[in-house]
Amino acid sequence: MAVHHAPLVDGFNRRISYLRLSVTDRCDLRCSYCMPEAMQFLPRKEVLSLEELHRLALGFIARGVTKIRLTGGEPLVRRDVIELVQALGREIGNGLEELTITTNATQLAQHAAALADAGVRRINVSLDTLDRARFEQLSRRDRLPQVLAGIAAAKAVGLKVKLNAVALKGLNEGELPTLIEWAHGEGHEVTLIEVMPLGDVDGDRIDHYLPLVAVREALEARWTLTPSEHRTGGPARYVDIAETGGRLGFITPLTENFCAGCNRIRVTTTGQLYPCLGGGEMIDLRGALRSDDPEARLAAALDEAMRIKPERHHFRIDAAGAAPAQPRHMSVTGG
Ligand code: SAM
Ligand code: SF4
Repeated sequence: MAVHHAPLVDGFNRRISYLRLSVTDRCDLRCSYCMPEAMQFLPRKEVLSLEELHRLALGFIARGVTKIRLTGGEPLVRRDVIELVQALGREIGNGLEELTITTNATQLAQHAAALADAGVRRINVSLDTLDRARFEQLSRRDRLPQVLAGIAAAKAVGLKVKLNAVALKGLNEGELPTLIEWAHGEGHEVTLIEVMPLGDVDGDRIDHYLPLVAVREALEARWTLTPSEHRTGGPARYVDIAETGGRLGFITPLTENFCAGCNRIRVTTTGQLYPCLGGGEMIDLRGALRSDDPEARLAAALDEAMRIKPERHHFRIDAAGAAPAQPRHMSVTGG
């Protein structure tokens, strides 16, 4: 039926063309702003199979999704993830325009070549510090050497690497210029992110919340920042830095709302579609996938998701803001 192939357009006339698909909620790190040390992971039987993830992705491509980012948790800890990348890589040029992945890079050295061979061209790597002790403090694991080897391997096979760093007051705040300078020297773009109130962690995020306006001012005192027209279809806004010769992005969910241009939805590894990272609205796709009439049920579920996608998120971090805005961790919804 024609309706099954109608593009995804939400109630605010935003065309949804970008899917973030979480392939696992598990992770080999325990970044302190993301999850507690004793994080409870989902029982494996609740997680979608490789075949289900593939069918789901094809369903989205049929509805006009042109960009898919695999995420998690750490996508590269899922054993069969490369098979999924290869299967989806075959859709590039066939409705799908871009397939990417967000990774912590601990296992990237082993997988970089397979990603590139499957058609991945750009990847996002999360890296908050270049200091080994600080890395261990932030992620609760001593893995910086593996991460740097992963980034080098990605570069060596021609993958374009974008680094994402969460700006954290009193933690990596003072090192951000070093990180940016190093990344630009290596030819990698960097984007800074404000920490978001998603899920409980062991400490209180507010202690480390650092508004990016303050970071930007500090960088402006040091370097020449020129606002750039560069856009990637995402929420980042960019500047070019004259002294480093590179580009720097800012993602400011708390200090500057960007929801009007939202083009994305997220699906968890159990098939729950969240039309907004910062909202509680959810549609279950696993039930649709496992029903007698998956195609029709999936189409109806996606239409419903478009109907309930909220106009904007309601993140807030304030003096009384100890409670997370959403109880889901970023590692569940997919970053
Ligand atoms: N494990 C992979 C990684 O770290 O790149 C992919 C998933 S991770 C949840 C995706 C991104 O979310 C990372 O860049 C991470 O720094 C970021 N992140 C996690 N928790 C966050 C939070 N509460 N606020 C802002 N960013 C967060
Ligand atoms: Fe794992 Fe990524 Fe969360 Fe760090 S941010 S704990 S690497 S999912």
